[in-house]
Parts: sequence; C-alpha cells; structure tokens
Amino acid sequence: MTETPEAEPPEAEGAKTFAELGIHEDVLEVIAEMGWETPTPVQRDSYPLVIAGHDVIVQSRTGTGKTGAFGIPLVDRLLSDDGDEQALVLAPTRELALQSAREIAKLGARRGIDTVAVYGGASMEQQVRALEKGARVISGTPGRVLDHLKRGTIKASRLRVLVLDEADEMLSMGFAKELHAIIERLPKKRQTLLFSATVDRAIKRVAEKHMHEPQFLGLSGDHVGALGIEHFVYMVSGVGRVANLISVLEIEDPESALIFCNTKAETEEVSAALQRAGFNAEWLNGDRPQREREEVLGRVRREEVRFLVATDVAARGIDVSHLTHVINFSLPTNVEQYVHRTGRTGRAGRTGTAITLVGPTELGILYYLRLQYRIFPVERTLPSEGEQRTRQEADRIAMIDAAYPNAPNEHDLALVRRFMSHADAERMLAGLLSAFFGEETGDVDKVAATRRRRGKEHPDDHSMVNGDPDDATSEAEEESPTATLYVNVGRRDELRASELGRMLRDRTGLKRKEIGRIRVRDKHSLVDVPEDRAQDIIESMAGAVLGDRELELELAKGD
Ligand code: AMP
Repeated sequence: MTETPEAEPPEAEGAKTFAELGIHEDVLEVIAEMGWETPTPVQRDSYPLVIAGHDVIVQSRTGTGKTGAFGIPLVDRLLSDDGDEQALVLAPTRELALQSAREIAKLGARRGIDTVAVYGGASMEQQVRALEKGARVISGTPGRVLDHLKRGTIKASRLRVLVLDEADEMLSMGFAKELHAIIERLPKKRQTLLFSATVDRAIKRVAEKHMHEPQFLGLSGDHVGALGIEHFVYMVSGVGRVANLISVLEIEDPESALIFCNTKAETEEVSAALQRAGFNAEWLNGDRPQREREEVLGRVRREEVRFLVATDVAARGIDVSHLTHVINFSLPTNVEQYVHRTGRTGRAGRTGTAITLVGPTELGILYYLRLQYRIFPVERTLPSEGEQRTRQEADRIAMIDAAYPNAPNEHDLALVRRFMSHADAERMLAGLLSAFFGEETGDVDKVAATRRRRGKEHPDDHSMVNGDPDDATSEAEEESPTATLYVNVGRRDELRASELGRMLRDRTGLKRKEIGRIRVRDKHSLVDVPEDRAQDIIESMAGAVLGDRELELELAKGD
C-alpha cells in the first residue's frame, strides 16, 4: 500500500471550489443545484487520485461527503459518455445502497447516467427490468448483487469500477464471503475504491488481495463535516479562564463532557477547580499511576464521572462515546488535533457538541480551522455579571415556588398580608430568605457550589427539600438511608418538583417529610426516597401519567 498520510495530492493544492477541480459543467450545475458550495476535504482530496485512475482507500465516515467523493468522479470521468461499462457500488445496508443510488442518480442526471439500486427484500423482477434498461451505476447490497451476478442479470464483464462503501461495516456484518465471491467474478482490469471509517487489519487484507497498488488517503480531517457535530466557541479574555469554564458549564449544562487541556498541569488545576465549584469532575494524564487511571476509567465507564478532564494523550483510545460534549479548555496548537478531539463526540450516529474557549492568542488557530477545514463554529458570549445574577435570582424564586406548593391557610394568609404592609418588610424578607438558603444570599457563587455539592447536581436544577425552611440547610436525608429514583420526565415535559411531590404523596402514601430532594432536570428528574420503600414506590407509580407521558420510575444509576 502506498501511504500518502495526510498529504494533499499536488493537483488538489489550492483547489477550493468544484470548478477548480476541473469538473464538467453539467455536473457542476447539478452540484450547485444540490446546494453544495465547496468540496468537502474528502471530495477535494480524493478527486484527483480517483480520476488519475488509481485504486484508492479513503478513510472517511458518514457525514463527510464520501458519497459525493466517489459519485462525482464516477459520473464526471470514470464512465465514458458513449461506452457501456458499468460501476458497482457495494454497501452494507439497503438504506445506504438506496441513499447512494439517489445521490449518484442526481449527480449523473445531466450526463445521461442512470443508476439502479438492488437489494434484498424487494422484487427481483423489477430490478432485472431496471438493469435491462441499461443503468450505468449499480448500487446494492452484497447478497442481492451476488444473486444477480450468478443469474447473469448483472454482467460481471461490464463492471469496470468497484466501490466498497463502508467496507468495515460490510465486514463486521458478515459479508466477507459474499464480497470475495463478487470480487472474484469481476474483471481484473478495473478500478477499485474503498471507503471505510476504520482501516484495520481485515480491511488491509481486502486491499492487499483485491486492490492494485492502492493509494491511501488517511485524511486527518475526515471527521470534519461530520454533520452530526455542532461547534460552538466562547470568546474569552484569557484571564480567569477557569472561571470562564465554570460559567460555560453552568450555561450549557452539558449532561457529561470530555474536557481537553493542552498540558498535564492544567488537567489537575481545572479538575480541582471544578470540584471546588461543586462539579463531579476527574482528571487523567500520563502522570497518574496506572492503578489510579484504571480506577478513574472504571468510574467513567460506569457513568459516575460527569466531567473528565484530560490531555490528548491520556484520552487516546479510551471509550468515552457516551459523553455528550467535548470541551476544549483551550484550542489545541495544531488544528488537526481539534478535529480529532471533536471527533470523540457524536459517535455512532448520535449528535455531539463541541465547545471551545478561545482567547486572543488562539484566534489564528480558529481562523485556520475555518479556512482549512471549513468548520465555522457558532460564536456565543458569556453573560455579564448582571445577566448571571438575574438568572440566579430566577432560579431561587423557582426553588421557593417549588418548595411550598400548597395554598396557605387563612391564618398564614392574614399574617402575610400584615407582613407585606409593614414598613420594613424588605429587610425582614431578606433575613428570611438568607435563612432559607442558609448562606449569605449575596454570595451567589458560593451558594450555587454548595447546592451542587449537596446533590452533586448542577445549578439549574430546581432543587428543593420538602418540609420547613430549616430542612433546606440541614441534610434531611442523613437520618435514614435513601435511594435515588430516576423519573423519565423533566422540565421539557413541564414537570414541576411540586407536582412530582404531590403525585408521589397521592399514589404511594409517602408523607411529605419522607420525600427527599426532588431535582427536575431537562429531560428527567431525580427524587430521593427512603431506601426500604423504593421498590414499593416504583410499583405504586406504575401507570401514573403527566400530560401524555406515562411516568416510569427506576433506581437511578450508581445508586
Ligand atoms: P455522506 O458523507 O456522503 O453521507 O454525506 C453527508 C451529507 O452531506 C449528505 O446529505 C450530502 O448530501 C451532503 N454533502 C455532501 N457533499 C457536500 C458538499 N460538498 N457540501 C455540502 N453538503 C454536502
């Protein structure tokens, strides 16, 4: 295999538009109609190699524009206008075969190149008729394609281009035998293109056996355009970066994140600061003894760590695919590293989010990221101190609102009215509030950290402790062992802590003081209940409904 790692083929240098690649006008027109403005890196870099006639292995995954990377040269150059040679595209699933067929059909529409999709589970006759009409591109799944080859409804001798799309998936889905049987039937004189997200030994064996001096395009930017990742940046001054990070975490409220630092020392500093601020955080770098590293990784796997702060080296090769966010404490000094880091989220078809703090000295790298990889992160700003305070005040009012769901009795109401008409009502109410929150209400950060630490929760939780105000400051749960229950509805479902409390009391007969903290999060909620009642509560709540959602309770993970 000829390695051209991360190299740009000379012809591609400087080519930033499709026209600069030398694509025919009629193909350029449909590309424009499809709304594709510029080639993705994988399209830009593979095009010259493919039209030069090389066999090529392209490391790329869905979302990078890989279908265009083989579809464009296929319709543009590889299939001649007047010949009868055909191209065969093999894909692991029927959906992918269909999707590629549609895209190639569009690309080839103005060049009179027809495409047909052949896959199992659909009528053989229809496919045979479509094939007889003279399609030039056949996009199919291995099993059905082999059937057609055996019947002679696909003529092996006409197939001059073979594309193996998502080759790794085809192998892992057990299509190796069919693949070999298909390839054995094809003419030796053909061009083979292999696209695969991973290039391991099995893929290399396929390449050695069936490809002719393949060029390897291991684009370091191959995750780029992985359209499932959203990129955001926060412009920061560079001074007080840790405090900025904490603000970002409070605003974005990620479910979990891998936080990248550029140096080992930073990982420890950042993790310690996050812990001080009440967040559940851990650090990982090469200096940590093996035993400790394993212990941390075990907790990460069990999803007991919300924020893992790590260096690039320490994060390599560990499975963090469940983490929803990648956060760059700083931009890495080399832009490829950004692509690798952010490729760690949004795996397996899930969407991921990448958030980066960018200081003045890093603007150059951000510029390069836009230019080179066409990643245009959305810029967000940190709220001013005033905005932050407004948000925190709203949080507190929501907490009090949730803590006292019932209408006051007559006596209390009379007292409230009298109180409110008192000349010094504000002073007294401020005193009551500070007693309720248990700290100086002025020191919002400290209060937020304490609240987080208490429940290892984040600040936006509409946390409450049932019972009288004193309970809010004492650890009411300490008295008897409690279990935390996970509830499948949250703020999004317009659930309020008070409502959940009421439902629990109504359906399970729990007393108000037996219900511990209720934390309503965006998509779910957590509630502390006496451990010995947990199972019974789960059963009693079966069938409870909020709006049109049926509530499901279970023991929270890690409990
Ligand atoms: P793929 O990696 O082939 O699955 O493509 C992912 C998505 O990107 C598809 O919806 C394509 O239509 C789209 N796409 C491919 N190439 C480009 C391009 N150059 N510009 C914009 N979108 C593209």
